[in-house]
Amino acid sequence: MKKLTIAIDGFSSCGKSTLAKDLAKELNYIFVDSGAMYRGIAYFVLQNNLFTNGEPDTVSLIKRLDEITLTFEYNPEKFESDLLLNGITISNEIRKHEVAAIVSKIAVLKEVRSKLVKTQQKLGEFGGIIMDGRDIGTVVFPFADIKFFVTADPTIRAERRYKELVLKDSTITLAAIKANLEERDFIDTTREISPLKKADDAIELDNSNLSREAQLAFALKLINERTIDV
Ligand code: C5P
Repeated sequence: MKKLTIAIDGFSSCGKSTLAKDLAKELNYIFVDSGAMYRGIAYFVLQNNLFTNGEPDTVSLIKRLDEITLTFEYNPEKFESDLLLNGITISNEIRKHEVAAIVSKIAVLKEVRSKLVKTQQKLGEFGGIIMDGRDIGTVVFPFADIKFFVTADPTIRAERRYKELVLKDSTITLAAIKANLEERDFIDTTREISPLKKADDAIELDNSNLSREAQLAFALKLINERTIDV
């Protein structure tokens, strides 16, 4: 059977990666979280203290982009891949609020995007891949076999993310998370290069009131119907 390319885009904290992971497991495909790569670059900014007046120093970052190598390595204990920055695992670090606070400001840069898009396209060259992000169906894989555009009610999204993050950082507040999601969605949808938007041929999936299982079943049904067509 043909190995498909599946693109999943949508707003922050919509459960895109959860859907992508579940599908990859079900179909035995590669799963790539493209947002983790943007977070990896944001982490490099924090690690090297590349800031001016409290904002990411984008000029210095662009000069140092060649120093950054991001790779994924399968971790059998977690049944998923870790993200490595120059050979060191940063999977936990990239989930921190400090990273979320600056990542969208870095993702607007064309130099950052072109570096990551090239790597993402290489990862997908043989198909059999499910990648989630903001520009996967529009820029990274415009010819993807199936595209999903995931949405959910903003309050539900913030509550879901809060439940996840508060386990790791008890100082985090729901209000801070909601503000961060709003800010990221605004920057991601209004930026000049590769803004987040629904591809014309994407299937919209609002999972506000869907369980993880129901969301997976919805997507699998569509994939099975398409697989018969291709
Ligand atoms: O998916 P996640 O929320 O981890 O992504 C973090 C940020 O990375 C997004 O808010 C967005 O600014 C950026 N991103 C992007 N393009 C992608 C994936 C993520 O601009 N394909």
